[in-house]
Amino acid sequence: MDIENSNFYNFVIVGAGPAGLTAGITAARLGLTSIILERGGLAGPKPRGEGMANMPIVDEILGEGYLPSIGFKSNGGRVWHSPNDLQITTTYRKEDHYFFEWRKFIDRFTEVANALGVKLLFNSTVIEPIEKHGITIGVKYKNMDGQIHEVLGNAVLDCSGFEGVIGKRYGIDYTKMNCPIIKCLISNANFNIKENPDLEFFLLGNGDLNYSREFPPCVAYFFPLENRRAEVGLMLRMAQVPNMKTVMIPDNEEILRVWNEIKENYPGFSVFFKNCNIDYEEITSLPNAKIAEKFVPNPGVVILGDSAGFINPFGSSGLYYSMEMAKFWAGMITQDLEDFIKSKKLGIEINENLWTFNKIENYTIKFEEQHIYKEVKHMYNLIGAFEYKIFNRLRTSDKINKKWDYIASLLNQA
Ligand SMILES: Cc1cc2nc3c(=O)[nH]c(=O)nc-3n(C[C@H](O)[C@H](O)[C@H](O)COP(=O)(O)OP(=O)(O)OC[C@H]3O[C@@H](n4cnc5c(N)ncnc54)[C@H](O)[C@@H]3O)c2cc1C
Repeated sequence: MDIENSNFYNFVIVGAGPAGLTAGITAARLGLTSIILERGGLAGPKPRGEGMANMPIVDEILGEGYLPSIGFKSNGGRVWHSPNDLQITTTYRKEDHYFFEWRKFIDRFTEVANALGVKLLFNSTVIEPIEKHGITIGVKYKNMDGQIHEVLGNAVLDCSGFEGVIGKRYGIDYTKMNCPIIKCLISNANFNIKENPDLEFFLLGNGDLNYSREFPPCVAYFFPLENRRAEVGLMLRMAQVPNMKTVMIPDNEEILRVWNEIKENYPGFSVFFKNCNIDYEEITSLPNAKIAEKFVPNPGVVILGDSAGFINPFGSSGLYYSMEMAKFWAGMITQDLEDFIKSKKLGIEINENLWTFNKIENYTIKFEEQHIYKEVKHMYNLIGAFEYKIFNRLRTSDKINKKWDYIASLLNQA
């Protein structure tokens, strides 16, 4: 098949974020073709995570030493503040942790992908899957002019993040996985990096904010950067909310209103904002209430990265996990495709053999045997127990503060 002149690729990848780009890069290095469809005018059009540990996969995908070359090394400390900032406990990470600008980080993926011949199509919004005999064989997408096109392949990798455009079509319930989060970047912030070198997390229970009593439990965060800049924000923790009668799910307007109050008044947290400039502020979602139950929601489709809720929910770190997950699945499917390449001509005719019930089960088992899967699953179990205890059972500032020693012991395991 003449790949150049056709609309067929081994991998049809939805979304040019860290997961989609890692999958494309991995497949290209193994000699297979992929197309990445991205709805924005460039990869990762909106900034997301801007801090991660310098794990070997970052060198492998982006080049040796790339992260330190663009990053600012943090000391790895995390300070956890109890409600109303009455008590603190500090924990430390083992690995070197760097902060960087999203644009420098994500553009490097694009550079590597381009050099390897991965086809990147921007301004292309994927709208739905295409099926043949119950197997997903491609997707339909809309370009900037509103025209609908089709692209076919051996595997569709849904890497569209919390939107999960294809996963949603096959029953993945993102309303149960997504948590609203505010991302905000500030400059001229009121802190001294020597006195505040750690990441700071402020735990807020339900019922304590007199300006919004029914607001869900949440965590306000402050990540110090160089030159008195900081990344700050508010993560709503929704996992316990379905079982909490005292919580109302807020709309975006209410979340922003509460966020403004917290910036203005919250003990310990509001001090950072005195006379600062707000350079970026946006409300978005992060799927870290729940991991997806299936990674292959239909034969022919794999959901990866945020689309699968594959995030460490403590600290909401998903960059490393989405890269590892994407590399693993792209590599595993490539191995099977190679067997077909040896024996047959490539095309969608092989998809029925590639996506049998047994193969899907084997893929899932192999992934679930991986260290990264076990780590993420463990973190979800841990945070489930932690949030049940703190946010559901104890709930308010008085009660949480009384049990802080116990809570600190749990935080030391995160
Ligand atoms: C505020 C915030 C702070 C965070 N902080 C950290 C951190 O410090 N450290 C960390 O490790 N992680 C952090 N994360 C998490 C991390 O950013 C994500 O886990 C990671 O970006 C997931 O990568 P992804 O490729 O799966 O999804 P995304 O990065 O969300 O990429 C999805 C891509 O798909 C595109 N897309 C969506 N719909 C369509 C469609 N229909 N058609 C075509 N394209 C589509 C989007 O435009 C986007 O480019 C943070 C996230 C947020 C929101």
